[in-house]
Amino acid sequence: MKDRRVEIFCPKCQYHPLESDRWQCTCGVLWNTFDTNGNCPECGKVHSDTQCPACGKWSPHHTWYHEFNSDEVSEKEPLHQTRSS
Ligand SMILES: [Zn+2]
Ligand SMILES: [Zn+2]
Repeated sequence: MKDRRVEIFCPKCQYHPLESDRWQCTCGVLWNTFDTNGNCPECGKVHSDTQCPACGKWSPHHTWYHEFNSDEVSEKEPLHQTRSS
């Protein structure tokens, strides 16, 4: 059983974007780019790069998505909790 978890944060500074963060398209619309995978809801433009509101650096949109496997986590931290069932 692989339990995959995706976290969204800036690959440069690890800033986690907030629900209230907004990006501006060239058409002028303001929206949260992570709601739409970088697609403008107004004109449909695909924004392949996303600017971090915290550090101001541009990164490819997909690099903001970080996938974690719970398998890897448990491997790094072998917590042997003795649960007597
Ligand atoms: Zn647009
Ligand atoms: Zn950043």
